[in-house]
Amino acid sequence: MFCGWICPQTVFMELVYRKVEYWIDGDYNAQKKLDNAPWTSDKIIKRVSKHIIFFAIAVLIANTFLSYIIGFDQVKKIVTEPLSLHMSGFIAMIIFSFVFYIVFARLREQVCTTICPYGRLQGVMLDNKSLVVAYDFVRGEPRGKIQKNKTISEPAAVATVDATEDYISSVQNKLGDCIDCKLCIHVCPTGIDIRNGTQLECVNCTACMDACDDVMVKVQRPRGLIRIDSIEGIEKGEHKIFNARTIAYSAVLLILIGVEIALFSLRSDVEVLLLRTGGLLSQEQSDGTISNLYNYQMINKTADSLAVEFKMLEPETGTFEIIGDKNPSVGKNSKSEGAVFIKIPKDKLEGGKNKILVGVYSKGKLITKVKTTFFGPIK
Ligand code: SF4
Ligand code: SF4
Repeated sequence: MFCGWICPQTVFMELVYRKVEYWIDGDYNAQKKLDNAPWTSDKIIKRVSKHIIFFAIAVLIANTFLSYIIGFDQVKKIVTEPLSLHMSGFIAMIIFSFVFYIVFARLREQVCTTICPYGRLQGVMLDNKSLVVAYDFVRGEPRGKIQKNKTISEPAAVATVDATEDYISSVQNKLGDCIDCKLCIHVCPTGIDIRNGTQLECVNCTACMDACDDVMVKVQRPRGLIRIDSIEGIEKGEHKIFNARTIAYSAVLLILIGVEIALFSLRSDVEVLLLRTGGLLSQEQSDGTISNLYNYQMINKTADSLAVEFKMLEPETGTFEIIGDKNPSVGKNSKSEGAVFIKIPKDKLEGGKNKILVGVYSKGKLITKVKTTFFGPIK
């Protein structure tokens, strides 16, 4: 399902690029005819307009893709501000645009069969019980053309109309339901013959299923000669969705989803690192407190800027003296750094090395706690 219905490569290829191609060049047969036709003005106009549209769509996709990497605001700046200010971003934009253009205009399904690692992994996970787009060889074989118009000359003894019909019917009865029209191959985006069995190139787009169903309706045979089924389903008529393999995969998937949910729910919106500044000793102050100098780093993973304040949680008494900006803050999706003195009354310290717990608050709300070490005078 992923390859045929979710993968952006297939979605853009089938729902955007191929639609444009059909709109300009016509259906499969018309495209083939145009490919082989000489370079007339009509062919040139069609080719140029098609590739201009292809490239314009590639630029749109490239810009969207770039927005995921460097952010929409940055892409907007590259597009609207002078080029000299964003030369590297502009070059990246051009490279991405050409890559997408080449992928969709030239490489196409070769990406699925030779570049994409997911398609390769799929083969490893399949067995005879896997549901895939499959040709019912039991019903379809031996394949053969409908012999409706065949004028029967053999056997020579067959002379009457009734005898001729009996003969056609007897020939037809020996054949399977596949009339060998090859429509399933013509509509296949990767150009494979699904009648040869499941192949790496199949992206499960089901185009061959639809084409074959139309043929079956026309020749008055049941639909589903090509359908979603397993080898066992076709050979033995067994259609079990749940088996040891699917249950094992589902169990692994559920565990992974559980771990993911746990990680997301336990994730703090703000990450704070508080480390003693190296090479400095603790200092005894005139007010009877001991001070240590720390460097802090805050990472804000939210979409809002946060004003931050520190409070001592363990021991409960202790003060903070921020160096520089007295009101530290961290912008949305960014990090900020600074230095702070922590002062703790001497009598609250247990010895040379003390574990302390600092609360980080924003608008009076505790957003995270940080453990660190505080050095006092050795008793
Ligand atoms: S479209 Fe159906 S009938 Fe035609 S060749 Fe393919 S499988 Fe056979
Ligand atoms: S074999 Fe059928 S399902 Fe597979 S890629 Fe070709 S048309 Fe799509």
